[in-house]
Amino acid sequence: MTLAPPSQDRKALEVLLDLTDALSEVRPLEDSLQAVTDAALAIIPGDHASIRLLDNSRTELLVGSRSGAGRELAPMSFRMGEGLIGWVVANRAGVNVSDTFTDVRFKRDERAETSPLTVRSLLAEPLWSGGNVIGVLSISSPLTQTFTNFHHLLVRLLANCSAPPIERARLRRLAMTDDLTLAYNQRYLVPRVQEELERSRRTNAPLSLLLLDLDHFKRVNDTYGHELGDKVLRQFADRVRASVRRIDVLIRRGGEEFVLIMPQSDAAAASMTADRIRGAIANVVFNLDDGITLQQAVSIGVATWTGTESVDVFAARADSAMYRAKENGRNRVEVASADEAPRHQSKRPSVPAK
Ligand code: GH3
Ligand code: MG
Ligand code: MG
Repeated sequence: MTLAPPSQDRKALEVLLDLTDALSEVRPLEDSLQAVTDAALAIIPGDHASIRLLDNSRTELLVGSRSGAGRELAPMSFRMGEGLIGWVVANRAGVNVSDTFTDVRFKRDERAETSPLTVRSLLAEPLWSGGNVIGVLSISSPLTQTFTNFHHLLVRLLANCSAPPIERARLRRLAMTDDLTLAYNQRYLVPRVQEELERSRRTNAPLSLLLLDLDHFKRVNDTYGHELGDKVLRQFADRVRASVRRIDVLIRRGGEEFVLIMPQSDAAAASMTADRIRGAIANVVFNLDDGITLQQAVSIGVATWTGTESVDVFAARADSAMYRAKENGRNRVEVASADEAPRHQSKRPSVPAK
């Protein structure tokens, strides 16, 4: 006769099984990371779990996902070798610290007095891929001596089974990213709009598209050269990202044209965002090399999905509204009507991305 495992062990097994099932599906990187930190908190007695991933230059540990207490806090930054998290990467080894306050490697959060997140016990393990550490999975508790060896083994198991799918999702993401601006590239446009459109159909949530085209951008290249033009494009993408929500998706459609997909946004919300972006571009000068500053503006077309139209018609309406913004003087936002007539394709000077 076999004995059933204790209920806690059984729960851990079930959570791990569900996680490996979920990670075997093709899903966005953020979703995979979140599934791992959620699973960690479900089976290990901490109040906060996080994944940090090394950036491409392997110096900075960027936040991939966080679960539990303190998620609303701005995250601390860690470089390779800095704090316990950075130590794990630099030394290619995990830690189980029973009291961080007596550990010299620990980097104290200066906001600790007022913070809802206290890190007193800490378990952290490297995420491995092809012999390299690609990041760290950690879980913490506000009490000392929280984690046993068994918990440490669980974190190692979680790290080992999640690193390969995380790496796959990261590489997929790289293949879809435009090198210059780190926005998604145009290959991603139609499938992603299609996906969001289907989600809207299921949930009845509104969906909007912004089409953004830089004004007189050719002059920037003609005056300052292509390289500084590239710099403007990069800063432009940064400013847009800083003006929108995490769920909004920025895509470089080509040249100096971008699309912003805005899930759960109706026409009013999308126009507000569009105008915020317009101001963030036009009202702050762009600082380039050697003290060169320049003013740049953007024209934006807004369309909200009618609930029945195809991706092509939806995008063509946003396009048409953008052209109206150009005609009406540039540095403007125009909203497409539901029966907005698409422009003739030849009117649109499309510039392929490099
Ligand atoms: P409009 O206000 O009508 O949009 O004027 P525009 O000059 O922005 O429009 P046009 O489409 O004529 O020119 C777009 C320019 O964008 C032309 C091209 O030199 C520049 N461009 C396209 N891709 C890149 C790029 O990757 N880097 C740089 N630096 N420039 C680019
Ligand atoms: Mg253009
Ligand atoms: Mg332009």
